[in-house]
Amino acid sequence: MTEQAGGGADVDVLVIGAGVVGLYALYRAIDAGFCARTLEAGDGIGGVWYWNRYPDARFDSESYTYAYIFSRELFDDWQWTEEFATQPETERYLNYVADRFDLRRHIRTGERVTSAAYDEAANLWTVRTGAGTTVRARWVIAATGGLSVPHYPEIEGTGDFRGQAYHTGAWPHSPVDFDGKRVAIIGNGPSGAQLLTAIADTAGRVDLYQRTPTWTTPLNNAPITDERRKWLSDNFEKVTKILTRSPSGFLHPPAGKKSSADSPAERQAFYEKIWNAPGFGKLTMNYYDMTTNREVNLEFCEFLANKIRSIVTDPVTAERLIPTDHLFGAKRPPFVENYYETFNKPNVALISLRETPIAGVTATGIETTGTSRDYDIIVYATGFDFGTGALTRMGVRGREGLDLSTDWEDGPSDFAGFSAHRLPNFFFPGGPHGAGGGNYPRYSQDQVDWITATLTYATDHGFDVFEPTAAQQEEWMTMVETLAPQSIFSAEHSHYYGANVRGKPRKFLLNPGGRGKLHEMLNQMSATENYGGAFRTASENARQSR
Ligand code: NAP
Repeated sequence: MTEQAGGGADVDVLVIGAGVVGLYALYRAIDAGFCARTLEAGDGIGGVWYWNRYPDARFDSESYTYAYIFSRELFDDWQWTEEFATQPETERYLNYVADRFDLRRHIRTGERVTSAAYDEAANLWTVRTGAGTTVRARWVIAATGGLSVPHYPEIEGTGDFRGQAYHTGAWPHSPVDFDGKRVAIIGNGPSGAQLLTAIADTAGRVDLYQRTPTWTTPLNNAPITDERRKWLSDNFEKVTKILTRSPSGFLHPPAGKKSSADSPAERQAFYEKIWNAPGFGKLTMNYYDMTTNREVNLEFCEFLANKIRSIVTDPVTAERLIPTDHLFGAKRPPFVENYYETFNKPNVALISLRETPIAGVTATGIETTGTSRDYDIIVYATGFDFGTGALTRMGVRGREGLDLSTDWEDGPSDFAGFSAHRLPNFFFPGGPHGAGGGNYPRYSQDQVDWITATLTYATDHGFDVFEPTAAQQEEWMTMVETLAPQSIFSAEHSHYYGANVRGKPRKFLLNPGGRGKLHEMLNQMSATENYGGAFRTASENARQSR
């Protein structure tokens, strides 16, 4: 690793964000010999695992498949306690990684980036933070996360409430006492569902305000046994091969058959097995035509609806909990233990905002068109400004005066979900069109590995600038727009389409081509001379900028 950058820069590589992706990007940059630094807005390491510290926040990807797999020693030495670990354990893990790989001395916390501007003459980025820090960097890797800007709903009167109010995505560090309290949770995505089940036993009363029912299925968590740990260690090579090559980035064995291979009775038995499968296994281990054949999906939905009816004792509540506007998987489903069982508790109520929309928040509680209830605590589990939220708030200015927030007003345009035309030497792994339909860290690992290899290649071959051409970006965006309707996450009223944020354009924000398309298009680029024109030397850059 070099401790000093050349060419008027403070660092070669500036990473923004010390979450799962940012830590990995920093590790890779240092390992590749660059002088690198990280600026992190939070006062600690962890990204989403630093901010989302509400009770029972936890993985719904298996701990060891979500965690880093770049080091066999790390994989063996860190002992996850559960298949799906909780937030405190994950935050500890990320801090452990920072210390173990001596990353902490390169990380400045409490530094929220407020502007990042490309200086065309110097071919450097000038990055400023709210704390007054300025860093000049040759390359910027903005690992600012897709789920890092909490979305607060546009509800009248939220500022009038005199009780305690929290957002699951910006949870306080001091514990929130729910014991005996009257609590409202607005939102029933993974965050709201996890929180509900965590506090229902001790809170005095919990009302869940639900706008759209979700197909929530059990997480099926378990402690990691010594036997499982030994198997994982003994099979490290095999495990990492599957995680780095499979479309989903999970270890789940696929069913490998269509639903028509089974009789109706066999299908019901199969669905029961799927109900008991771990986390995302309900998608990845299901019949392979479940996501492509509407009739098959409808049959599985009917199975799930009957499960809900069999668990929830009040038939009216049960029907309210059953989605009628989307198939299983079309919206990102929550995987949460005992979700439906919780509605049988006498202190838990479901308030359907389809029937009685929220009229407003008052000084003492929430009014809907049909109810008025007082609360001690209101929790907004209302999600995030997904994909673009952090990047468009960071004052990013590229070549020829490009202002990212206005350039993306009608939706983001990018190449490979991590770079964009007119943003030379600026990367945003985990950004819009970054994640596919699988395990987030595995997708971003692909991106970070490619970015680091590209920086090394540029340095070794005398290139000073990497910037996808307009044609490369157009080809990628055509792929996104063409394949988006075929994505499993096709429900247009979800955050994957930006639909949860008022005024945000309805554009698909995932990579609908998945890992296959990502690799195909990156390989295509790197197989051509100068990466098809994406690489430039400093003098070519000066000519282009004139
Ligand atoms: P989310 O899935 O976007 O859910 C937000 C919830 O708030 C939805 O139920 C939404 O209703 C509701 N909502 C939004 N605005 C509202 C309004 N104005 N009035 C009433 N309800 C409103 O957010 P999330 O639960 O925080 O999850 C976001 C993502 O974080 C997930 O997709 C996942 O990737 C990740 N996550 C993962 C885990 C895990 O298990 N590992 C846990 C938490 C989060 P509508 O559906 O009607 O819009």
